[in-house]
Amino acid sequence: MTLDLASYAKENGVKFFMISYTDLFGSQRAKLVPAEAIADMQQEGAGFAGFATWLDLTPAHPDLFAVPDPSSVIQLPWKKDVAWVAADCVMDGEPVEQAPRVVLKRLVAEAAEEGLRVKTGVEPEFFLISPDGSMISDEFDTAEKPCYDQQAVMRRYDVIAEICGYMLELGWKPYQNDHEDANGQFEMNWEYDDVLQTADKHSFFKFMVKSVAEKHGLRATFMPKPFQGKTGNGCHAHISVWDLDGKVNAFADKAMPFGLSAKGKTFLGGIMKHASALAAITNPTVNSYKRINAPRTISGATWAPNTVTWTGNNRTHMVRVPGPGRFELRLPDGAVNPYLLQAIIIAAGLSGLRSNADPGPHHDIDMYRDGHTVTNAPKLPLNLLDALREYEKDEALQAALGTAFSAAYLKLKTSEWNTYCAQFTSWEHATTLDI
Ligand code: ADP
Ligand code: MG
Ligand code: MG
Repeated sequence: MTLDLASYAKENGVKFFMISYTDLFGSQRAKLVPAEAIADMQQEGAGFAGFATWLDLTPAHPDLFAVPDPSSVIQLPWKKDVAWVAADCVMDGEPVEQAPRVVLKRLVAEAAEEGLRVKTGVEPEFFLISPDGSMISDEFDTAEKPCYDQQAVMRRYDVIAEICGYMLELGWKPYQNDHEDANGQFEMNWEYDDVLQTADKHSFFKFMVKSVAEKHGLRATFMPKPFQGKTGNGCHAHISVWDLDGKVNAFADKAMPFGLSAKGKTFLGGIMKHASALAAITNPTVNSYKRINAPRTISGATWAPNTVTWTGNNRTHMVRVPGPGRFELRLPDGAVNPYLLQAIIIAAGLSGLRSNADPGPHHDIDMYRDGHTVTNAPKLPLNLLDALREYEKDEALQAALGTAFSAAYLKLKTSEWNTYCAQFTSWEHATTLDI
């Protein structure tokens, strides 16, 4: 039964609903709607001028309506007057085909038609930095190998414990928090779920981390590589596929190498086959390519891939199979759009299942040391333009994500790349002045 938001407001003392949708660049856009007005909005949606956000719409388009999905509602644990609710974009009574949550829901339905239910867990790393964004927030966080730094994580206990407490309250089953591999960097983990739920939680997590950091006079960033020389913000995804009841893990087969079933291998085969193209989605910014293909960081390793390879429990590859019944895609970064991340996983994976794709040989080597010995695997794109060109070439993947979505995404991202190329950089000045 659909939850009635007006009654929810009365029962929970909610004064405002934050009706929120995510555009193609991953920005969350919202209207604050008083509880008194929510009944109509639940039916009709909140009106937006779509052109004002990244959806490839013109000023002449009719109103975009963000129709709340009541099953996603979350009362803000740090401001109980407000409840966030994820919305789906509608125009002229039809779903907006390029809107990320619409794209994901369509792929979830496609997987369901094949009797499959995809479940994922994400690991969105972030930095706690100064409010002006120029440096990390903790001047004493200077260790050369800062990963799991006990003292440094305790200096940010108030922020981390507050966020983890909220996740406990929301029933997300968080289970660990740590200082990550760069000075100023943290990771918090909660339990995996169905892809749409994971995407909504991922979106809300980013909003929550930023909000709590601001409350404490800090700033949080998920930027892929916010500081040169330091390990970047990854957003690994752990992936498994289940039957429609969610009871039988179709990826698990203890008799197979790494405990990955034949089905799991072909799903992985799809990810491997489309890897260079899907990077346009999993690594969607100019800055993303400063994280993958990066030179060694101060800590000794980037923990990010540079080649399309897979293996068992070894973190130097694009895909790691850490244990039976799931694999970890280590390519995505902190800039990834939570909905498109899940959508591209399903799109590439289903393509693999349908074509019985072979993921190729596993390379059980230290890629950071011996990667040069791998000659039969493609290098990941070196920059956003490379990735967009790969996406443009991959017609099957474009079709799977939807032609309207793919056209809009390529157009807006290519334009972003062109804007970047028009920048005059201090590097070119320094290296070209005396030519
Ligand atoms: P690591 O840092 O070793 O990659 P984490 O513990 O930080 O791993 O994150 C693992 C993520 O994988 C969590 O979100 C966890 O719930 C999720 N996960 C565990 N098992 C599965 C599974 N079968 N399918 C999908 N995700 C899973
Ligand atoms: Mg982790
Ligand atoms: Mg990981």
